[in-house]
Order: sequence, then structure tokens, then C-alpha cells
Amino acid sequence: MKLAVIEGDGIGREVIPVAVKVLDAFGLEIEKVPLELGYARWERTGAAMSDQDIETIKGCDAVLFGAVTTVPDPSYKSVLLTIRKELDLYANIRPVKPLPGVTGVTGRSDFDFIIVRENTEGLYSGIEEIGPDLSWTKRVVTRKGSERIAEYACKLAKKRKNNLTIVHKSNVLKSDKLFLDVCRQTASAHGVEYSDILVDSMAYSLMMHPERYDVVVTTNLFGDILSDMCASLVGSLGLVPSANIGEKYAFFEPVHGSAPDIAGKGISNPLAAILCVKMLMEWMGQSRSLLIDEAIVDVLQKKIITPDLGGTASTTEVGNAIEKYIRDALG
Ligand code: ATP
Repeated sequence: MKLAVIEGDGIGREVIPVAVKVLDAFGLEIEKVPLELGYARWERTGAAMSDQDIETIKGCDAVLFGAVTTVPDPSYKSVLLTIRKELDLYANIRPVKPLPGVTGVTGRSDFDFIIVRENTEGLYSGIEEIGPDLSWTKRVVTRKGSERIAEYACKLAKKRKNNLTIVHKSNVLKSDKLFLDVCRQTASAHGVEYSDILVDSMAYSLMMHPERYDVVVTTNLFGDILSDMCASLVGSLGLVPSANIGEKYAFFEPVHGSAPDIAGKGISNPLAAILCVKMLMEWMGQSRSLLIDEAIVDVLQKKIITPDLGGTASTTEVGNAIEKYIRDALG
């Protein structure tokens, strides 16, 4: 197994080395391929990434990614969007599950759901025209794109509580009717219980009744917005991992960005990046990934936590404690 490791910018350079040490503690046969991409690279060379980088990434099986700073300069090619497109990473997966003793804005801890976001179509089609008086972006929904994300969500639901919520806005955006119909048909074919809800009602419902949901499937932009909103349910952006999955490749990144405000201070929370390692191991079929949950519970109980969670530990101290727990447990 070959893993491209992209620390990126800002706190990506702090949390990814810690996550890699945790991965190393399992002693798996993984060849790591480090790549420098992002804003710092763009400043130095004028390119955030090259065609050669894409080829190198395609020569790997999976990617562990920190964060890159993005700037609105026309010569700055979005690293994330390019990789997602080139590797055809169609499913964006965000588990929303509280960690013991940590609560978010609602103070609740009785929920455990996963947002499955279609990652290649919708309003991120890139088909747009920008003019001084008229600008538009084409919203693309295809049967093929809807089918594969619905399949992914249904298979996930089958492994969980067999419950699917389809989030859409088909009353206004008629393009969502196709998405909704395909999701309903796919859920029926898999014998998955399903319901559907308009995205605006869903935003409210996720804050009021997050315990109602199991697997939530939606289109690109809605998924983007809802999943960031749901980070507030679990307490800190520093706790939320994500995976981007395709037929061949998988890409794992914490939901947070490069956080320039705290970069270099050694206080960034590495748990989101460490939970990305857990998702990577699950994708590899490694059941020992459960040890990561145990190790996280242990550091939370011992209050070895970073300032965003009210603690005083550094990024490295949290990482070292988790690594030690895993090494001790593995003997
Ligand atoms: P970018 O421009 O790369 O998206 P950003 O600062 O706009 O960066 P985020 O990095 O997502 O956006 O973070 C928003 C805020 O949340 C940061 O300013 C930071 O204070 C906090 N934050 C994000 N990630 C972490 C983390 N891992 N640990 C602690 N605080 C974090």
C-alpha cells in the first residue's frame, strides 16, 4: 500500500506529522510518499501543484492530506478540487459523532450519523460564466452520479441502522428531482428505510434532533454546508475528519483548514487528523483502527487536550500520548 502524505500549509504541517506517527505505531506495511503542495509551494515556485504531482499521487493508493491555504489569485489552481477531479473521488464522507466528555453548541451527545456528500457534480460543475452584469454557474445532476452516491450511502446504511435521509431542494431546484428519484429507487432496491427532507428543514432539524439521523445523503453544495454546520455539534473543528472515496483511490483530510491564526504555535488539535488515520485504516480493512478510539478516550479522560477543548497540552503532547497508548496496547 502506497500513501501520499501531503502536509500542505499552516497547521497541516503540525497535525499531519503527528497523525503519521500514530499510523506508524501500528507497524503496517505502508510506503509513504511525501509531497509538498499548496500555498507555500505556490509562493516559492509559482505553482501550487504540477502535472507530475498528479501522476505521483495516481501512483499511490491513498492520500493523507493536511490543509492548504487558498488565495483568490487566478494563477492559483485549487489543489483540493484538482485532486478530487483527477482521482474521481465522488463520495465525501463525514462522520458526525461526539467524543466522550466533549459537547458542541447544543450540549448534546446522543447522536451518531454520517453525511455522504456527492463530490463531483451539482454547483461545483465548474461550468460557469462570469460577466460584469451576469454571472452563472450550471448545476449538474446526472443519473450516473446520483446512482453511485446513492449506492455508496445505501451500502453504508446497511452496515449501520439501515436508515437513509435524502436531503434535497427539489421543490425549487427541479434538477434535484432526478437526484431524489434515483436515491429513492436505490434505497428501495437495497431494502434501506428512507425518508427525504428539504435542505432548509434539515439544517434546523440537525440542530434540534441530530439523534434522528443515521446516514444522510445529499448533493455537493448542500453537503458542504451541512457538514461544516455539523462540526459545531461535536465541539471543535479540530475533531472532525473526512474521507473522499472513489472507485480506485481514497483521500483523507481533517475538515478544518490551515488556520493561519494558530499556525506555528503548536496548539492545533491533532485529533481530526488522527481520526483521518482511523478512516484510512477502516478503508484498508484494518480492524485494529478501533484502538484509535480507545486512545482518544484515554487522552480525553486524562485531560491531555489542546486549548480549543479547554486544555493546555500541545499538538505533540496529545499525539505522543495517543501513540504511546497504541504502542503499549499492541505490546
Ligand atoms: P483556511 O483559510 O485554510 O480555510 P481558516 O482559518 O479560514 O483556514 P479553519 O482552518 O477551518 O479556517 O479554521 C477556523 C478556525 O478554527 C481557526 O481560525 C482556528 O482558530 C480554529 N481551528 C481550526 N482547526 C483547528 C484545530 N485543529 N485546532 C484548534 N483550532 C482549530
